Amino acid sequence: MHIVIGGGPAGFMAAVTARRTDPSTPVVLLEAGRQVLRKVRVSGGGRCNVTHDCDDPARLVTNYPRGTRELRGPFTKFGPAAVADWFAAEGVALKSEPDGRRFPVTDRSASVVDALTAAAHGAGVEVRTGVHVTALRAVEGGFAVETGGGATLDARRVVLATGGATSAGSGPSGFDLAQSLGHEIVPPVPSLFTFTCRTALLKGLAGRSATVRLAAAGHASEGPLLVTHRGVSGPAVLKLSALGARDLHDAGYRFELRVDWLPDTSDADALLRKQIDTHGRRQVAGDHPSSLPRLLWAALVREAGVADAARWADLGRDPRRRLAALLKETVLPVTGQTAFKEEFVTCGGVALGEVDFRTMASRVQPGLHLAGEVLDVDGVTGGFNFQACWTTGWLAGNALGDRE
Ligand SMILES: Cc1cc2nc3c(=O)[nH]c(=O)nc-3n(C[C@H](O)[C@H](O)[C@H](O)COP(=O)(O)OP(=O)(O)OC[C@H]3O[C@@H](n4cnc5c(N)ncnc54)[C@H](O)[C@@H]3O)c2cc1C
Repeated sequence: MHIVIGGGPAGFMAAVTARRTDPSTPVVLLEAGRQVLRKVRVSGGGRCNVTHDCDDPARLVTNYPRGTRELRGPFTKFGPAAVADWFAAEGVALKSEPDGRRFPVTDRSASVVDALTAAAHGAGVEVRTGVHVTALRAVEGGFAVETGGGATLDARRVVLATGGATSAGSGPSGFDLAQSLGHEIVPPVPSLFTFTCRTALLKGLAGRSATVRLAAAGHASEGPLLVTHRGVSGPAVLKLSALGARDLHDAGYRFELRVDWLPDTSDADALLRKQIDTHGRRQVAGDHPSSLPRLLWAALVREAGVADAARWADLGRDPRRRLAALLKETVLPVTGQTAFKEEFVTCGGVALGEVDFRTMASRVQPGLHLAGEVLDVDGVTGGFNFQACWTTGWLAGNALGDRE
């Protein structure tokens, strides 16, 4: 018998694949919670962003701040197109949104949950819920899997698919179990969060958005930024939070966020000079040469020390230069972070050097495989986190089914 620990997307994919590859070996999936696939159910705002429309492994891996190198090979074997085919065969057709995110055509995460549970049932996977694995010991010929209920199960091989830092609930986590078998755990810190920033400049601007370039702690990102009541959010912020997850954590989430409001304009001063020449009689705060929302522009004008009523023709050299500088680099003081409501993941986990990414086998403990977020792998938003789970779960399942 094989045991899969963790009833999330990685565990389900591993268990189903193992049974289908080798129907003669029983597979038991143990889930601590009362419900399996809890995160899949709530994911993507209830729609489940299953994967991303990107079939070039080299490009796909750039969406993973951790796992970039290691996931490239696995994605050639079971990438987004293979995932779409897999779900289509289970009766769940996927559609792509213009930004590349892929959802079930039903727009319901329940379709994905139902397909995975039906696939597990059909393949003969025995799913046991409410079973928390409290200890995992290597014994002759396999593993002794101890559960909270006091029972000990014997397994020939084990897949650890226990998810990230927030997945375990109370009791030992997958990190504890992996560590007890000799694995190194890269300390977990949050990824995918928004920035708290209470500065006068952003006051009254909640809901306004702009396409920007951001930089902080040696990391940079580009894309839409959304001003919120607490600070800033949006794809560019989330991406930066993922890229800088560890550095920003180490800084206690107190850092300077540099915003380039005109990423496509290299010479902002030239843009302003042209505006002076062509629209001198118009108001600086009200009529501007950028695509920034009017209120945001007006706030930057005020921040540059330009009077609300000033006209372009009256804009002196110094205020013009101050405004140009501010447009290319506004420094926002960030004082904290808030979990993003749609999706948050763990940066950190089982050290990647200790895993063979052809089979997801542990290099530390023979017979142990690892899949999903328990690994030090995480992606930005857009379906990349589930994709890593499908891929690593599928590889682990295949390896389990391979009776070598
Ligand atoms: C609100 C939210 C929305 C998200 N939306 C998306 C999205 O749309 N697209 C996307 O790509 N990603 C999304 N993510 C991220 C994605 O959900 C995770 O990356 C993914 O679920 C990780 O899968 P996993 O199988 O590794 O772990 P999990 O889904 O966390 O599952 C692990 C399971 O293991 C169980 N477990 C843990 N320890 C033990 C133990 N000792 N014994 C027994 N069982 C145990 C847990 O109870 C849990 O059910 C979202 C995350 C959140 C929080």
